[in-house]
Amino acid sequence: MRTHQFIALSLSLAAGATLAQGYPNKVIKLQVPFAPGGTTDIIARTIAEPMGKILGQNVIVENKAGGGGVVGANETAKAAPDGYSLGMATVSTVAANPAINPKMPYNSMTDFTPVINVAATPNVIAVHPSFPAKDFKGFLAELKSHPGKYSYASSGTGGIGHLQMELFKNLTSTFITHIPYRGAGPMLNDTVAGQVPMTFDNIPSAMPFISANRLIPVVVAAPQRLAQLPNVPTFKEVGLEPVNRMAFYGIYGPKGMPKEVVDKINAAVRKVLEDPAVKKRIEDTGSIVLGNTPEQFAAQIKAEYEVYKKVVDSAKLRLE
Ligand code: GLU
Repeated sequence: MRTHQFIALSLSLAAGATLAQGYPNKVIKLQVPFAPGGTTDIIARTIAEPMGKILGQNVIVENKAGGGGVVGANETAKAAPDGYSLGMATVSTVAANPAINPKMPYNSMTDFTPVINVAATPNVIAVHPSFPAKDFKGFLAELKSHPGKYSYASSGTGGIGHLQMELFKNLTSTFITHIPYRGAGPMLNDTVAGQVPMTFDNIPSAMPFISANRLIPVVVAAPQRLAQLPNVPTFKEVGLEPVNRMAFYGIYGPKGMPKEVVDKINAAVRKVLEDPAVKKRIEDTGSIVLGNTPEQFAAQIKAEYEVYKKVVDSAKLRLE
């Protein structure tokens, strides 16, 4: 290494260490790349306040919806890597969209600093009560006998709901029109109002409507049947194992965050997740609390991307 390179490296390492020492000394932004009311928003808002208490600075949740999460995630990727611009990392932004969208503005494996995976959530296909069938068998029969009659709502183009429904259509030889929204919040509003007859959603945002009988669950993506929905089969049980994947919600920042800052945020979030009250609040939404290391989360992002890439390639899925 030449002397000037060495000096530059030493200076940047020193700057990182100094930054980490004083971190955090101002408000931290935690961006949700979807509209309010979806699972990403629910999880971010559950952890932001206790996280801020531990770090000694407020953690403010900001929604930046669009493009199936890509617009917001791109903003996080391009922000200063100082630990004050964090984002919620979802399967849609790190795996589904990167696998299907040929025009991605970021690389989910190299443009972020993974910090921690917070929670995993089961998914569900739910129909409006006016839909002619109330269980999976009837649901599939209805779709098969009326190709093209129905549409489904997703939380965004290229997101997990879009991709998983396209995979479902591919595996069942059915045809349903895709209607993307800016997140599960607005998507659920329209589905519950009967504008769109069905949706693919994550359990935390869909569950309140399911409990109120305003949406009828027909099949779930989870390792086994959910305690809250004992009569609803998993995709695996109905012979659609590839669709039987959960979603996850973590935290990342732009690439190049100082390790000390990453470790500080990771430790704070772990502490939050160990708090029985917070843990219960997350579990009550139907989620599974995770809380791992930055390295483990980075490996999960890569693994999830590879799963979705395989799905896209083998089913030849394309963005319409
Ligand atoms: N379904 C989206 C995902 O898992 C989240 C949608 C939302 O939070 O509004 O990435």
